[in-house]
Amino acid sequence: MLDQKEVNKFRFNQIQNQKILVGSNWVHSKSGQTQSIISPIDGKEISKLQVCDHLDVNDAVLSGRETYERGDWSNMPPINRKKIMLKIAELIEKNMLELAVLGARDNGTEINMALKAEPGSAAGTFRYYAEAIDKIYGEISNTSNNFLGLIHKEPVGVVAAIVPWNFPLMIGAWKIAPALAMGNSVVIKPSEAASLSLLKLGEICLEAGLPPGTLNIVTGNGRITGQALALHMDVDVLTFTGSGTTGRKLLEYSAQSNMKKIYQELGGKSPNIVFADTENLEEAAKVSTMGIFRNSGEVCVAGSRLLVEKEIHDEFLGMVYKFTKNLKIGDPLDLNNDIGAINSLSQLKSDLDFVEKAKSEGGKIEIGGNRVLEDSGGFYMEPTIISSVKQDTTIFQNEVFGPVLTVTPFENENDAVELSNATAFGLASGLWTSNLSRAHRMIRKIKAGTVFVNTYGGSDNTLPLTGVKQSGNGSDKSLHALDKFTDLKSVWMKI
Ligand code: NDP
Repeated sequence: MLDQKEVNKFRFNQIQNQKILVGSNWVHSKSGQTQSIISPIDGKEISKLQVCDHLDVNDAVLSGRETYERGDWSNMPPINRKKIMLKIAELIEKNMLELAVLGARDNGTEINMALKAEPGSAAGTFRYYAEAIDKIYGEISNTSNNFLGLIHKEPVGVVAAIVPWNFPLMIGAWKIAPALAMGNSVVIKPSEAASLSLLKLGEICLEAGLPPGTLNIVTGNGRITGQALALHMDVDVLTFTGSGTTGRKLLEYSAQSNMKKIYQELGGKSPNIVFADTENLEEAAKVSTMGIFRNSGEVCVAGSRLLVEKEIHDEFLGMVYKFTKNLKIGDPLDLNNDIGAINSLSQLKSDLDFVEKAKSEGGKIEIGGNRVLEDSGGFYMEPTIISSVKQDTTIFQNEVFGPVLTVTPFENENDAVELSNATAFGLASGLWTSNLSRAHRMIRKIKAGTVFVNTYGGSDNTLPLTGVKQSGNGSDKSLHALDKFTDLKSVWMKI
């Protein structure tokens, strides 16, 4: 149970101006350019970030490459690599609250959630892949007896990772841990809007004994730093989480450079489908409310499109309305608040623009729709519910990535499937019904990487997070994530 006094211990810590990690050195960018880190809690500067250009990125990639070729990490016995990764997990846990508060000051996530979702989850991810290291084997194929066919599993070399601001530590760990487990070097670029906790992870990794150069961290904005990394000729694989707009550019950068493999976890516009036969509608309403509004809706799998069977539409909307009305918005480091701040002023403006557009296209604002707590200087928005939302509207088709829930009625199962699949996305979905056969029929027809049944959200490292359609390719989490960072080599030997 979190204690406010414990949280307060870290909330006013002076945060040093940040450096980047290249090999064993924490250094300034070569250009000396920096930018402010603005806390969404009060709109004030809390530190400064290095802005890296292609020269810094080059140093970081070179550091990763040299370490890889020397074999400091890639040739270390698996059992020793495992020990170091377990130590990283242990140190993340030791610094859990400090990391969570640091991250929340940077990106605005409510501390109760940040604690579990950021360091809590990151520690679990390092532990999961550490445990996998000495259990991964190559294969022997069943060729005829006068030949021996071997399949080697090899690291790819240098992995670049570009991650967003909503859960930097959790998503960063989803990339770094499996890449390290396979013996690769990593260069990661966090978002300029949330870099602090990943920079701190860099310190932890060195303290745990990760050989210098195995993990390098460059900071700055996507257009310069991110682009330089994605265009680099010596990056073997780029693993990305972020928007489809950036994802498209990364595919182009790959084509323009060395055709590095690109794996993407992109956005979503996930349907949450509620049938009238749901066993406990009240529970469904409560879970669905948090399924969209936690972390101010800045969650890739957020259930942002509520689809409700017509006969219970008004009743269910009333229940969701009631739970939403009771949510307390405010300072993410105040344990009394349910929902924290929007990550940045530009994200807040984008969220509000979507609401205006929805109104102009016939949506009815049931609750919310406004910026609040402006006097704090921070970026806060009311949880917002918009009903009467039609399939061909902007808000139905596009990801807001903010605290905005749309509600659309449906007539029957076929109608529900059609509405569910009517966007370009295919990340997650929710399904509420007490009819087991219907659940299985729907699971097969819904085009999404994840289907939550009679719940919304939650899973652990054992399940992959996969996007279909324009929500991405490849998987984060689970043993499947290792495939992204592994080259297969076939050996055909005559006996
Ligand atoms: P962006 O695509 O804007 O940014 C993601 C990362 O890409 C940031 O580090 C950003 O840097 C960088 N970037 C931006 N432009 C470029 C470029 N031209 N070249 C290289 N890198 C670039 O997404 P957001 O940060 O706004 O994140 C929100 C998106 O992430 C949503 O669409 C959300 O759904 C998706 N997401 C998907 C998840 C999944 O698992 N499928 C999980 C979480 C989020 P900087 O910010 O410094 O400019």
